[in-house]
Amino acid sequence: EKLGVALVGLGEYSNGQLGPALKATAYCSLTAVVSGSEEKRKKWQDEYQLKSENLYSYADFDRIKDNTDIDIVYIVLPNSMHAEYTIRAARAGKHVICEKPLATTVEDGKRMIEACNEAGVRLSVGYRLHFDLFHQELMRLGRGRTLGKVRRIISDDSMAIGEKDQWRVKGSLAGGGPLMNNGIYCVQAAQYIAGQLPVAVNASFLPKTDPEKFKDVEEGIQWEMEFVDGTVAICESSYARDGNFLRAEADDGWFELSPAYEYSGLKGRASTGEMIFPEVNQQALQMDDFAICIKNNKTSRVSGEMGLRDLIILKAIYKSASGGRKEPLDLDAFAQP
Ligand code: NAD
Repeated sequence: EKLGVALVGLGEYSNGQLGPALKATAYCSLTAVVSGSEEKRKKWQDEYQLKSENLYSYADFDRIKDNTDIDIVYIVLPNSMHAEYTIRAARAGKHVICEKPLATTVEDGKRMIEACNEAGVRLSVGYRLHFDLFHQELMRLGRGRTLGKVRRIISDDSMAIGEKDQWRVKGSLAGGGPLMNNGIYCVQAAQYIAGQLPVAVNASFLPKTDPEKFKDVEEGIQWEMEFVDGTVAICESSYARDGNFLRAEADDGWFELSPAYEYSGLKGRASTGEMIFPEVNQQALQMDDFAICIKNNKTSRVSGEMGLRDLIILKAIYKSASGGRKEPLDLDAFAQP
């Protein structure tokens, strides 16, 4: 039997990706939605044949605890709202997938993990690329040292933002700019390619070309992540332009993806030849994997702890950029990536 998923927040990502993916999942399906807009709830009810009693507003949300149609709550709200809704979902006894970044403060991230542990529910982060075959190949090549030890990782994830992205430039909702939204993918990839946790970061903000639009958050940022064996990741993320790539240079070869972080259309090459993999539905595989973890009582490979680890790194990157110095990181409490 499929596990029931409630989507919380019916914005662009739910509309464009998660809803459609839930039509392709084998182990879970959409059974409920939570939205502030009655019009959106109706529209989703029609499209996904939802029961009338499975449409919730934010005020009603806590009533999900009595609803056996809901096993998993998927939080797809602006970043600063992730903590409140994750904690409320946990207290309602539901497993949670929370979108990236896990939260906007480390304290919130810890509270979310605690709430899920206390309630005995699983917590996972929407890190869809762990389920993409190109990224799994990068993990194999990097962590597995297939082309020798990786010395240098270079990555950029940038997105020119527009009118519809209002909350993304509000510090109080987004918790930061492109680093929180896009750069997090580079932070993730650097770790799963290096197969290690970073020990220090060094960062600087890029100059603002539109100080009015970016009065609350950075417009662009560049940073380095250092690993204990000397491997470095050199990264950049901007809200002023589009584009993304990822490249790793190893002792006996190189490998790269360009584009690297999209939902589809990824292209990969290595010094040994082109990477040929079928396109997958990243979000469908991600949600199915979580459903299987729940059924088998296992921790997700994209756990709340991984989300917290990345949040600690993002905060150190900001601290380094603001303070103009290298920031050491102590991530000993976390598993090796
Ligand atoms: P969006 O702006 O399109 O949707 C946000 C939704 O939250 C809207 O339906 C909005 O009505 C609702 N909302 C509730 N309270 C709000 C408030 N106070 N202010 C603004 N909106 C409010 O955003 P999105 O692109 O769907 O992003 C939502 C989350 O999903 C973010 O955390 C984002 O980082 C994440 N996301 C992840 C991916 C991915 O690839 N994993 C892609 C896109 C977005």
